[in-house]
Amino acid sequence: MPAISAPRGTRDILPSESWKWSYIVQTASKAMKDFGFSEIHLPIFEHTELFSRGVGETTDIVEKEMYTFNDRGGRSITLRPEATAGVMRAAIENNLCAQGASAKLWNWGPMFRHERPQKGRYRQFYQIDAECLGIAGPMADVEVIALSIEIFRRLGLKNLEVVINSVGCEKCRPVYRQKLIDYFTSRKSELCGTCLDRLDRNPLRILDCKNESCGRVSDGAPDIFDSLCDECREHFAEVRAGLERLGFTYTLNKRLVRGLDYYTKTAYEILSGDLGAQNAVAGGGRYDNLASAIGGGKIPGVGFACGLDRVALVMEEQGCSFGNMPGVSVYVAALGDDVRGAVQALTYELRKAGISAECDTSGRSFKAQMKSAGTCRFACIIGADEAANDTVSVKDMEDGSQVSIPAGEAVSYLKGRI
Ligand code: AMP
Repeated sequence: MPAISAPRGTRDILPSESWKWSYIVQTASKAMKDFGFSEIHLPIFEHTELFSRGVGETTDIVEKEMYTFNDRGGRSITLRPEATAGVMRAAIENNLCAQGASAKLWNWGPMFRHERPQKGRYRQFYQIDAECLGIAGPMADVEVIALSIEIFRRLGLKNLEVVINSVGCEKCRPVYRQKLIDYFTSRKSELCGTCLDRLDRNPLRILDCKNESCGRVSDGAPDIFDSLCDECREHFAEVRAGLERLGFTYTLNKRLVRGLDYYTKTAYEILSGDLGAQNAVAGGGRYDNLASAIGGGKIPGVGFACGLDRVALVMEEQGCSFGNMPGVSVYVAALGDDVRGAVQALTYELRKAGISAECDTSGRSFKAQMKSAGTCRFACIIGADEAANDTVSVKDMEDGSQVSIPAGEAVSYLKGRI
């Protein structure tokens, strides 16, 4: 029988990589804390309508990419394709933004989209996500963008570009939408099949189509800034001023619309020059209509999601540091079979004292045990002599020196040296 493999588009994050992921998440977690964000844990599956109503019926995610199934109770369930809708649902359900309160929440975990797998694009991928709910003003946008940049700064990522745009609001976007429909209808013959399909349903998406001909047509499309209402125009100007005040450089891209319907006003992405086609390491923006789309009244919001898989890829490619690879500090070796029980007992004492320790549990030879000890800072050796004298021989694996310590003092001796 052939061995069962992981489903296409998924992969195992093995110990050789997982410690690097921990480093990234811990770095992000500290930055979140420094910016006043609290962690929230959310379900991995939600009612399908959360995404169809929140993310939008005509988006690629909802139309083509969701893992949706009926559970045993006949309810339509979807594995979350993104985090924002779930965070907003949780805030509404738990009254986190009642009476005008605000909530700054972050989380990380797997997301699921049925996309064509390629470098940096998976069907189960991981996002670090931050959402600032309940604040309508532009300073919140600046804070969120600054937080994402700060995470990458702490991780040491280079060669990044911050791209921003405004996609308007429910007042001005319909006007722009109609202008786009009129324009693209006049150039219909030059659009790809997908964009022809988008023409009536989601014309803004044509603007970020990767097809060359569509790109040429989009170059001449009406400018969103000519359609923005005064409120959106002012909001965007303040976001830009705020970013400049903090010393950030960014690029304006009027064709950045992002794939989700809930965005209003600010939309942004952080791109890496070292990723190839899937070059966005983070994306986000403001979504003032999401709450009402999922039946939660008026709660403004702004946030971002950063792709953990891609950040790890870029850091690897750029030779960024992931801190120290965690290893075991002390190896306790048994010289002879009679002392194996004493070895396990000392190993447990060390672990209880918070010192990472390892010993052999499979009956390997002393030589083999000492080979394993080679990657540790110290080796503790117990043989017949040590057992008889109630001592432990402690070998410094860096300089090879060895001392004999009373068994009862081994833990404190090592604690002072690790
Ligand atoms: P989005 O939710 O589409 O705005 O994506 C936010 C970030 O998640 C992107 O900038 C990517 O870094 C990451 N991302 C999105 N889709 C995938 C995927 N299929 N595989 C890996 N990372 C992804």
